[in-house]
Amino acid sequence: MRQPLIAGNWKMNGTRESIKALLDGIKAGIGDVKVAEVAVCPPFVYLADVQEQLSGTPIAWGAQNLSTELKGAFTGEVSAPMLNDFACKYVIVGHSERRTLFGEDDATVATKFAVARDNGLKPILCVGETLEEREQGVTEKVVARQIQAVIDKVGVAALADGVIAYEPVWAIGTGKTATPEQAQAVHAFIRGMIAEQDAGVAEALRIQYGGSMNAGNAAELLAQPDIDGGLIGGASLKADDFLTICRAAG
Ligand code: PEP
Repeated sequence: MRQPLIAGNWKMNGTRESIKALLDGIKAGIGDVKVAEVAVCPPFVYLADVQEQLSGTPIAWGAQNLSTELKGAFTGEVSAPMLNDFACKYVIVGHSERRTLFGEDDATVATKFAVARDNGLKPILCVGETLEEREQGVTEKVVARQIQAVIDKVGVAALADGVIAYEPVWAIGTGKTATPEQAQAVHAFIRGMIAEQDAGVAEALRIQYGGSMNAGNAAELLAQPDIDGGLIGGASLKADDFLTICRAAG
């Protein structure tokens, strides 16, 4: 049985003050979350605050990105060992905003996935098609290419303790959500393509849905057999909405 993972991707949002209030709200309600594992991914600069406020709670934390490099002259980058200094459990790799706005290609994302694992972090690998790709009927081809780039780099067994987040680009931050049927179809495809390479890994792998998941639509998305949680952007910035999603996971 796969434990669903609900992870908040705060993106470049928050202040010290707002983050404290948000975490206070989440901590106050986390006792009602019985099934899901819960994590938040703040901006790098708030990791120390988050570590301090969440240590000793059941809520995990992680980062939104990491460098392909471990140290050196890479101005503005943050390395995996640095994330370990703040006890991050997860790190998001290949978010569509990183791919489209910051030019990360499949090879870079695969390297980040490998570096994260090599340093004891659990990568959350984001994949997903653009609206144009969906309309062209190449959703499966795009998602398969993005995942296979990682498998070719690290081997299929490395996916077993990782997480894949299927995030259709057209649904991220747009208020448009994939229907439960659309999402389930792609999740089943992903599990199927991995099962062709290793059935045990496919069974163990958690596949989150991301893309305008909110307090109103979470339950029917999370009820799908191959949806094992959610990567939540906008709705993770409101404690009540985020907790509603966490409770909807089981
Ligand atoms: C995301 O950026 O990972 C995301 C799913 O955002 P939103 O929930 O705001 O669509």
